[in-house]
Amino acid sequence: MKSRLLWTALLLCGLSSRSWGFSVPNLAYLSDALTRFQTMATQIGVSDAQIHLGAYNLSQLMTTVHGKAIAIRNWDIVHSSELPETPATVERLQESAEKKASRMKVPPPTRRAMIRASLMNRAGLMGFADLPKHVLGLYQYWKKNLRLGFIKLHKDLPFFALLVGDDLAYDPVIHENTHAENHQEGDLGEESIKDEMKAFHNEQQWLKIVDPYGERVCFLRAKLMNLSQRYHFPIFNRTLTFLEHLAEIQATGGDEEKLRQVVLSRGYRNDDHERRGPMSS
Ligand SMILES: [Zn+2]
Repeated sequence: MKSRLLWTALLLCGLSSRSWGFSVPNLAYLSDALTRFQTMATQIGVSDAQIHLGAYNLSQLMTTVHGKAIAIRNWDIVHSSELPETPATVERLQESAEKKASRMKVPPPTRRAMIRASLMNRAGLMGFADLPKHVLGLYQYWKKNLRLGFIKLHKDLPFFALLVGDDLAYDPVIHENTHAENHQEGDLGEESIKDEMKAFHNEQQWLKIVDPYGERVCFLRAKLMNLSQRYHFPIFNRTLTFLEHLAEIQATGGDEEKLRQVVLSRGYRNDDHERRGPMSS
């Protein structure tokens, strides 16, 4: 059979479900509560007891968003001073991710995607591109041909890194390199839903390493909601949508059926490659 160039994309949401990014009902309320708590905590004369009560109240609200208990302790968040000061390069994302992973136990499929990412990067086969808004990244490859394809990541990603940190911004790299790795194993392109479930599962495993309690993403969502309301910069809204993507994957807890539902909700279908057709190289 003649080799054809195909592509598989990481979709942020189904094409027809534009309101998807704002479907969590308590987020605006949580954002307000967070602002009130921050204001209260910085006032002179506030007692430790009031701070504890405020924090407890806030953590209870967060459980209604996330559906799991959060113990009273220091929250696992990244402070602004720890965030990078310049937009990320692919190399920096890779270095930051490897640094993070070196201290953690990484499941073998996720580790293989990281190694593949390093190889793709060194071979010059991965870079940022002007992709449609609802596409975070894509892997282009040739059907029935194991020649390595190439990965395009959305050009907003370097700026997401400024707001959420390199390790969270690395998530789409894991997704696309799961496809690249599966392609090299001769296991990509037959069933889109199965392919996507593997990639989404690897994303979930990566997020478990980066944000084991889901607090970082939860906190960042509240922060970005606040920022996007105060300053109407499109990048804040875009980052918020990215964080919603991460939160939805985290919420599956790696459960196969839940992952399948996420994949279906994004609009993936098993005949995707045929429906979208080949792209010219
Ligand atoms: Zn994909």
